[in-house]
Amino acid sequence: MAKTIATARTLAELRGHLAKWRKAGETVALVPTMGALHDGHLSLIELARRSADRVVVSIFVNPTQFGPREDFRTYPRDEAGDVDKLGKAGADLIFMPDVVEMYPAGFSTTVKICDLTNDLCGAARPNHFDGVATVVTKLLIQCDPDYAVFGEKDYQQLLAVRRLVRDLDIPVEILSAPIMREPDGLAFSSRNVKLTPAQRKSAPVLYQTLSEIARDLESGKGCDATLVKARFKLEAAGFRVDYVSVRHPETLKTLEGPVRQARVLAAAYLGQTRLIDNVPVPLKD
Ligand code: AMP
Repeated sequence: MAKTIATARTLAELRGHLAKWRKAGETVALVPTMGALHDGHLSLIELARRSADRVVVSIFVNPTQFGPREDFRTYPRDEAGDVDKLGKAGADLIFMPDVVEMYPAGFSTTVKICDLTNDLCGAARPNHFDGVATVVTKLLIQCDPDYAVFGEKDYQQLLAVRRLVRDLDIPVEILSAPIMREPDGLAFSSRNVKLTPAQRKSAPVLYQTLSEIARDLESGKGCDATLVKARFKLEAAGFRVDYVSVRHPETLKTLEGPVRQARVLAAAYLGQTRLIDNVPVPLKD
């Protein structure tokens, strides 16, 4: 039976739970999320459970990582559904601070990662990664976990967080989990609920296109030709392409010509909804 999961809305409550666990010698894993939980999030929680004695899931729609014209206000929120899912998933605590708890009056500190964040999502979303870096740093200091789990779905974010933790000597091990997908290939995303039925039908073309690029590269084709073809295919399916790019899997530097090891990343809009996805080269299967 699903247990009733404890909820902390303040830092003091969070630290009360953590202190008890630490006293008992238990290890802790943190899974940071923005809520509206889906199977992708649940896979992170599963990994967290396998890695540590206690699992804290944070749910915080972080205003500082949204631009002024982005969807902060309309970002999907489902507190009751999330609490239910987390009880069933076997998490131990939900940390659900409000904006004032995270950013009290006079808050004036920003964490900026100067490498890895300037292009791809960083180009289209100025200040996005400053918001991510600041809130992740806060969550890691607040929770002081042994492990923190992030998804490859936000591949650029994952690399940026690894760099942040290394650069600031934050004593946590970052674990990563592969992208979970719907049966038709669409990556689970909280934003998928915003797609109209027609857009939802087109949405799997994003993953199909990235997979085609990966297969083209594996068969020795150069980046340029396959990327031109990919952009055309996405536009034909109704996407407005923000970027589709072949990058070094660790440095995210642009790659050209034939490549054997890479990450193919894309961001594209269907209507107002921005979808991101990525695949490795070589494709695992
Ligand atoms: P979000 O709530 O969108 O900020 O995501 C919270 C965490 O879940 C991030 O580390 C994401 O990379 C991860 N995540 C989101 N979607 C997926 C997915 N489809 N598969 C695996 N992880 C995901």
